[in-house]
Amino acid sequence: MPETSSARAVVAALAVAAACSHSARPPGSPGSAAAPAAPAAQRAPVQHDAQVTLVPERGLVLVEDEVTLSPALRARLGDHVVFSLHAGLSPERAGPGAPLAPSPRGPALRAADAGDAGPPPVPLEHFVVALGPGERSFTIRYGGPISHAVEEHGEEYARKMAETPGLVGAEGALLSGDTRWLPLLSDDLVTFTLDVRVPPGWDAISQGRRDLHERGPEGMRIRWDSPEPQEEAFLVAGPLTERARPAGRGVEAQAFLRGDDAALADRYLAATVQWLAVYDRLLGPYPYPKFALVENFWETGYGMPSFTLLGPKVLRLPFIVRTSFPHEILHNWWGNGVFVDPSRGNWCEGLTAYLADHLVAEQEGRGVDYRRTALQRWADYVGENRDRPVRSFRVRHDSATQAIGYDKVLMVFHMLRTRLGDERFVGALRKLYSERRFREASFTDVQKVMSAAAGEDLAPFFAQWVDRPGAPALHVEGAQVVPRGAGRAVELTLAQTQPGDPFEVDVPVYLTLPSSPEAVRRTVHLASARETFSLPVDEVPQRVDVDPEFDLFRRVDPGELPAALSGAFGAPRRLLVLPSAAPPALAAAYRALAEAWRSPGTEIVSDRDLAALPPGRSVWVLGWENRLRPQAAQALAPHGVALGDRELREGKLVLARADRAVVAVARSPADPAQVIAFLGADRAAALPGLARKLPHYGRYGLLGFEGDEPANVAKETWTALASPMAVGLAPGGRLPPRAALPPRAPLAPAP
Ligand SMILES: [Zn+2]
Repeated sequence: MPETSSARAVVAALAVAAACSHSARPPGSPGSAAAPAAPAAQRAPVQHDAQVTLVPERGLVLVEDEVTLSPALRARLGDHVVFSLHAGLSPERAGPGAPLAPSPRGPALRAADAGDAGPPPVPLEHFVVALGPGERSFTIRYGGPISHAVEEHGEEYARKMAETPGLVGAEGALLSGDTRWLPLLSDDLVTFTLDVRVPPGWDAISQGRRDLHERGPEGMRIRWDSPEPQEEAFLVAGPLTERARPAGRGVEAQAFLRGDDAALADRYLAATVQWLAVYDRLLGPYPYPKFALVENFWETGYGMPSFTLLGPKVLRLPFIVRTSFPHEILHNWWGNGVFVDPSRGNWCEGLTAYLADHLVAEQEGRGVDYRRTALQRWADYVGENRDRPVRSFRVRHDSATQAIGYDKVLMVFHMLRTRLGDERFVGALRKLYSERRFREASFTDVQKVMSAAAGEDLAPFFAQWVDRPGAPALHVEGAQVVPRGAGRAVELTLAQTQPGDPFEVDVPVYLTLPSSPEAVRRTVHLASARETFSLPVDEVPQRVDVDPEFDLFRRVDPGELPAALSGAFGAPRRLLVLPSAAPPALAAAYRALAEAWRSPGTEIVSDRDLAALPPGRSVWVLGWENRLRPQAAQALAPHGVALGDRELREGKLVLARADRAVVAVARSPADPAQVIAFLGADRAAALPGLARKLPHYGRYGLLGFEGDEPANVAKETWTALASPMAVGLAPGGRLPPRAALPPRAPLAPAP
């Protein structure tokens, strides 16, 4: 995926917000989309039937809510039912029964998790309602302002997230469980109907199915029915224009935008239909009667049950529809279909990232890149100092928790898939979904279905990866070919160099053989700190590669990472070197480009002021005229790139200075953890376009562009030149090229 750093921030913010807001249809009724609402008694422990009026210009919500308890919950709560509600709404009991009395305490709830990074709490008031013998329903009427400003909070620049615990305003409304806009009696799941009135031009969205949508002189009346048990009731409203199309199986795809934009809506509706079909086939039927894209009035990326609330900028980013959007759709299976009790460990973000973000990467042939990046993020942000067990992950609130809760967990699922094989892995996921739909599931439930599918007890696997922090650091200590019987064998010595006990890992090893165009895979079981394995071979391999596709959760070495433009853009410290000898117009254009890329940690200098490449930062060498060009050329030579005065050559590719702009990246000779990037363009007019376009080419090592726009005419990725996980066995110590690795199919085909 082309990705700029600002887009990364938006996407990161997106994923934060998508942290599993939950809800759900009763098991065994997949066809109930078209069926009438079930009677209250067959629904969740708490049923709300609410008439709701929003008065945006005054920030008011007016509600009449009939609350019905299941017999079991009624018995548990007794004759005096305590509930809490957003302060200032002055509830009164409607109909028969004793009036409400204030309560000093709220209802007894599961302890809130201290690690939760939700929006700030709202002021609450508590009340008691007295129920007569056999009485399970009561009706309360209330209203008042709910208007908490949208505020930024979050621990890090890139993770800052604007949130509100509840808002009714002129631009729109968002009410959720955090708002306490419906009375909260218990932690039990709820079902509900919302009969909503909003001003003319407005629309309102909630979970479930819409069974009334009526325009009147006073405005719109919309009724949403959610017979699927939910953790909370959402109500989102605003000046929205709807477009919809059927998505099969009685499900409707809907798009609500702030202003009509048929092309944009169509893009999302088409993607909704496609991805619902992909996940229906992979995991089992989508659990809700609709999926709606709803445009918010500030930047969010929330995934609610049966809809997603995306900010205006986010949803117009061209790549969101094929990256974050499938992730939001998939949350209806994991998080909003099967629920998570975060206090027992949040498995759902990693699984959703694996089956959405990683799946898209696999479908585009970038699965290896995706896993390598995930491992790199863990190494960069967590390492040993900030690590903790996966099971303690609740929600993401910074890069470190993201690297544990998303990156490590998705690698755990990847290792399960490798161990079980695709068919059994998918079978276990289908079982988890069908058995736990609209109920909570924990890592223990995941362990059960995976163990059953594997035909072995995976408790040790889960103990190692879910309860134990850390990661193995693999090291190839040696490889040699020795005689064995009548034939030969490769003796491979692997070590684990991390502190603490060794991990138990199945390590994929690939042999490049002279007679085979494809590398041959072997798996060795490493359970101690150092072990020598003997792999019988018919012919002397040219090289051995250990886990070249990053199938293991482990600490990667910087040397395993190929140089790529992302290293030049993503480094925390960057140096941009301007060419002092360039003609004035060109020099000015380079300076403008450097300024456009400026961010915290960036320094811009002239080549006159720099004697040699510095370590500790990525370096951009700008201009054919740059005095540091020979050093860039020297760094590029191992990739087979000849960077001269008039052209750049790589194999048969020739990019002439006169009519091409070129970009090439290599490891910095001054610091192998850093990259050096060369950018040469003789046309000043091409530089503004390059400034805009290059951040989208993060994975490439070599690029060529033509014209002023400019148009991309060449792009290549590098492989790591000196991975410590690769060993040459040919005489002379030279590392020959690796044979192609056997192709793999993605877990599900692209839509
Ligand atoms: Zn998510």
